[in-house]
Amino acid sequence: MDTAILRDVVIVGSGCAGNTAAIYAARANLKPLVVMGHEAGGQLSITSEVENFPGFPEGINGPDLVESMKKQAQRFGAEYVHGNVVTAELQRRPFRLNIEGQWVETRTLIIASGASARWLGLPSEQKLIGKGVSSCATCDGFFYRGKKILVIGGGDSAMEEANFLTRFGSVTLVHRKDSFRASKIMLDRVRANPKIKMVLNTVVDEVLDVEQGMVTGARLRNIVTGETSLEPVDGFFVAIGHIPNTKVFRGQIDLDEDGYIISKGGARTSVHAVFHAGDVQDRVYRQAITASGAGCMAAMEVERLLEAEGH
Ligand code: NDP
Repeated sequence: MDTAILRDVVIVGSGCAGNTAAIYAARANLKPLVVMGHEAGGQLSITSEVENFPGFPEGINGPDLVESMKKQAQRFGAEYVHGNVVTAELQRRPFRLNIEGQWVETRTLIIASGASARWLGLPSEQKLIGKGVSSCATCDGFFYRGKKILVIGGGDSAMEEANFLTRFGSVTLVHRKDSFRASKIMLDRVRANPKIKMVLNTVVDEVLDVEQGMVTGARLRNIVTGETSLEPVDGFFVAIGHIPNTKVFRGQIDLDEDGYIISKGGARTSVHAVFHAGDVQDRVYRQAITASGAGCMAAMEVERLLEAEGH
């Protein structure tokens, strides 16, 4: 990475949004620099099979899809750099970014740093991600046809995922309290669904079975009685929220109370020449294809802005 040159565009994040922005920006001859981030490849890199990305009738492996996007962007001149942005100075242009010790300057910025799924943090859960443990029902539900599925959480995401997953199998919804953050309508829908069993005041102590390299069950503990039990399941869906990766931009661009970027229309943020793409702004759709679409929009806005400025 040549730190001396002033960049036309830096893209923060290398998931679907960042890579698609990179393809468009590179084809517009803007030689984008993509800062890959610590979860390089984004959410797709922890997904197994992607069956709903148009153009792949047989489905495609998540990491392969995102790697192909990267290669496509590199073919047109995009440059990728490992690491995270640790400091961002967006008060004036050119913007200045510190990428783990190296400063770069850029005329425009696309923030495509995504949102990370919040996990329980159990070692067994982490080892089985992509092997039965998932954070995305839309992505992975299909693999559990006729199977037993466990969903964790008590918010709208958990309700939505639990309901959705009953299209495929029977669902056990495990929540650590007996009260819910979920909206009444979503909760009522779950309560009325005969394919969902609720287990309340309960936490997961361990996901089984790391030895076998696949999910076979979960060890549960009722936090009121202390009683433990083993729930045999094939799929383990964690739906306890997402954390947008915007910490480094806090105080510089408008974020909502949960840290998501507030869109000012199209791909615009509250700062002129800083654009958003993907899950870092979108808490609703969160799909590979919508993130890619957003990446395209952001790159086109960059292209138009730079052209209007005569660069
Ligand atoms: P929320 O923050 O609303 O809920 C998270 C849930 O996960 C809570 O029940 C919380 O429990 C639980 N939880 C958090 N950490 C842990 C943990 N370590 N162990 C066990 N349980 C845990 O997140 P959501 O993703 O559900 O929703 C985020 C936002 O998106 C909300 O505003 C929601 O309304 C919205 N949304 C709307 C949808 C719709 O309208 N269709 C669909 C999905 C989301 P506790 O209550 O005990 O803290």
